[in-house]
Amino acid sequence: MSETLFSGASQRLDAAVKHTKISEDTIERLKYPKSTIKVSIPVRMDNGELKVFEGYRVRYDDTRGPAKGGIRFHPNVSVDEVQSLAFWMTFKCAAVNIPFGGGKGGITVNPKELSLAEVERLSRGYINAVADFIGPDIDIPAPDVYTNQMIMGWMMDQYSVIKRHIVPGVITGKPIAMGGSLGRETATAMGAFYVMQNMLPKFKKEPKSTTVAVQGFGNAGSILAELLFDAGYKVVAVSDSKGGIYSKDGLNIPSVKKTKAETRKLEAVYCEGSVCNLVDHEKISNEELLELDVDVLVPAALENQITKENADRIKAPYIFEVANGPTTPEADAVLESKGIKVIPDILTNAGGVTVSYFEWVQNRMGYYWSEEEVNTKLKEKMIPETESIWNIAQEKKISFRTAAYVHALDRIELAVNAKGVKSHFEKV
Ligand code: GLU
Repeated sequence: MSETLFSGASQRLDAAVKHTKISEDTIERLKYPKSTIKVSIPVRMDNGELKVFEGYRVRYDDTRGPAKGGIRFHPNVSVDEVQSLAFWMTFKCAAVNIPFGGGKGGITVNPKELSLAEVERLSRGYINAVADFIGPDIDIPAPDVYTNQMIMGWMMDQYSVIKRHIVPGVITGKPIAMGGSLGRETATAMGAFYVMQNMLPKFKKEPKSTTVAVQGFGNAGSILAELLFDAGYKVVAVSDSKGGIYSKDGLNIPSVKKTKAETRKLEAVYCEGSVCNLVDHEKISNEELLELDVDVLVPAALENQITKENADRIKAPYIFEVANGPTTPEADAVLESKGIKVIPDILTNAGGVTVSYFEWVQNRMGYYWSEEEVNTKLKEKMIPETESIWNIAQEKKISFRTAAYVHALDRIELAVNAKGVKSHFEKV
């Protein structure tokens, strides 16, 4: 594995730079995050004790617009992780041409160990700590792993309390009643679905003869599994942090979702209830899921899932990265040598931030779109960008990941150069 997640992330930039003409200014600029802040968040726990949590906000680059990116609540959150996620956001926003730079935030915490009231105090405490560093024209947070609409609502409310006026555009992924956008909850999955629907036919893959395994059954993975199921794909395996289930004939995803919602874990699909008997499941681990003999693998959980340890055992010829950073650079090299096509995170999961952009636009104009309008606009964004990345990959004979970085870099370069490059200054 790379020394740090961030050194692995920046290797993708080095690979792309070789395939496009980029000024030294842009390369120099993109090597470092614009700002990294670490905060301490004191929280009064339900038992009266005071506990201090560590949080971060990284603004990686804002050359193309205010920084944009989610806030993660997870025990593994570190400055290295948040910085890498902010770096990926920079390229993701440029890859799909939304007018934002990249940012990310996080708190090192296992929110499942807190009561809901403690999560609320922690969320408001985070905003108290970072309020001077975010804003609708500065840096706009959103949900990420283990954060949701309700948390975004508390955070927007807290920011508005501090500013003494309502500021809906400071955060996206809010509850609809507080200025959220219709279609934001389903956007990451919907965006990935559009990318898959566009790319799989190019690989001569039709839904009914295509088997899919989805790792991660959170907001993105569970909704995508259902979209694929409804479109006729055979979703043979899904998993969550506690383990997975497999059925060679395909799982009935709506019933799996229903059982998970009722019991909060996939294992419960093994209960003796009616929904559980719809198909014969086999119990598998997350590691086994990744190595299944399927047509399409969708990592939709966390980073560093496909590494040099297991890359050689991956059998799926097509990988669509719905999680951020699920494949390490070393694994990429192994997969490429095996002819496995990886459709990268910065394209595949860009639907979420795209609808976040639509939410921010709606907040600023105070006029709200129907869900159909949002999904149409999302599709109009995802399909042409997917086509462009496909074409760059074919023309330059490079991986889809490098092509996506080239596509994004060309756009970032335009914004950096708009302020003048070395040659302008040399002449004067
Ligand atoms: N956390 C999501 C991502 O990684 C969404 C970010 C956003 O909507 O700003 O893309």
